Amino acid sequence: MDIHEYQAKEILSNFGVEIPAGALAYSPEQAAYRAREMGGEKWIVKAQVHAGGRGKAGGVKLCDTDHEIQAACEDMFGKKLVTHQTGPEGKGIYRVYVEAAVPIDREIYLGFVLDRTSQRIMIVASAEGGMEIEEISENKPESIVRSTVEPAVGLRDFQAREIAFKLDIEPGLTQAMVRTLQGCYRAFRELDATMVEINPLVITADNRVLALDAKMTFDDNALFRHPQISELRDKSQEDPREARAADRGLSYVGLDGNIGCIVNGAGLAMATMDTIKLAGGEPANFLDIGGGATPERVAKAFRLVMSDKNVQAVLVNIFAGINRCDWVAEGVVQALKEVKVEVPVIVRLAGTNVEEGQKILAKSGLPIIRATTLMEAAERSVSAWKSDNSPNLKLV
Ligand code: ADP
Ligand code: MG
Repeated sequence: MDIHEYQAKEILSNFGVEIPAGALAYSPEQAAYRAREMGGEKWIVKAQVHAGGRGKAGGVKLCDTDHEIQAACEDMFGKKLVTHQTGPEGKGIYRVYVEAAVPIDREIYLGFVLDRTSQRIMIVASAEGGMEIEEISENKPESIVRSTVEPAVGLRDFQAREIAFKLDIEPGLTQAMVRTLQGCYRAFRELDATMVEINPLVITADNRVLALDAKMTFDDNALFRHPQISELRDKSQEDPREARAADRGLSYVGLDGNIGCIVNGAGLAMATMDTIKLAGGEPANFLDIGGGATPERVAKAFRLVMSDKNVQAVLVNIFAGINRCDWVAEGVVQALKEVKVEVPVIVRLAGTNVEEGQKILAKSGLPIIRATTLMEAAERSVSAWKSDNSPNLKLV
């Protein structure tokens, strides 16, 4: 789960990371008021969306007066901000963060990620801040400092000092840098984050180490033990299809094509999508029903996929190990009886109780197109989608 910049800053600040003064606003008037309340001479207005690259896309503006703040906000509120990280549809701006503008001397990149190879938290830093890490690794790979943390002892001060030294932080600021690194590390560990990124971390002209941007991502599977983090979820920033699925305990990935896919397991989902493409089609999404799915769960999945208006055919591809083909078939039949299905439905079942599953589908009298192999299923889905989007399907 992602959170907003202002939320990440508040969390990190509670762990000892220094941040500039700032305030959140839900309207242009409120933004201007919050700036007056805060005082100062220059402010930065920052659109709060779950994506980076806002600066280049017009989502970060420097303002000298409260009138300018109001005008900048009027340009932002209610609009979609399109950055290189949002995709072409962009993300809606419903909150802005007004922050004191600080005089920047140096910009540093600082990131904490889970490194799967070493199975440790890895600190990634670079003296080339302001650029995205992808850009840095392409243009200035030699500037990147990497350091993994031994989990049994945690991040030691000497290790943090070593990173500061490699970044050429002047000796008087080493302690502030160590505090920042320790704060991020503790926040990462204690809150089950999967990523903490401060880009840029700046050294100000008056010699302070400040986080000017902050991004945190959390492990969804650990959210149950952090209610204060779950509360920060902002559904306005998520694909509505994926949010609806997540609320129902299903994992859904929205794509741009027109064939909806109901599968079990991420590996089978990938194979299904590849095969659809090979057969000349484009997947609209994939929904993973997971293992041990009951007929109710399958029906829920089906309704969800059907509610996506891009879907012009549905392919159910189940390889039942823990799952049972008869339950999947029952779920499909249940859903088809409830929901008016106006698109072709293709079902391919294999594995546990496959004969029972086939019988249930055959007996239902519903216009379900059946297939035995994955290739056959994909080809039938694509040809059914191409030739017919009407409900009058022939039984195969
Ligand atoms: P994004 O990464 O989404 O573009 P940032 O928060 O990193 O957004 O802001 C973009 C740039 O704007 C930063 O690299 C920094 O140079 C500048 N900036 C952001 N906040 C401040 C601030 N409070 N004072 C001065 N400059 C800022
Ligand atoms: Mg940034």
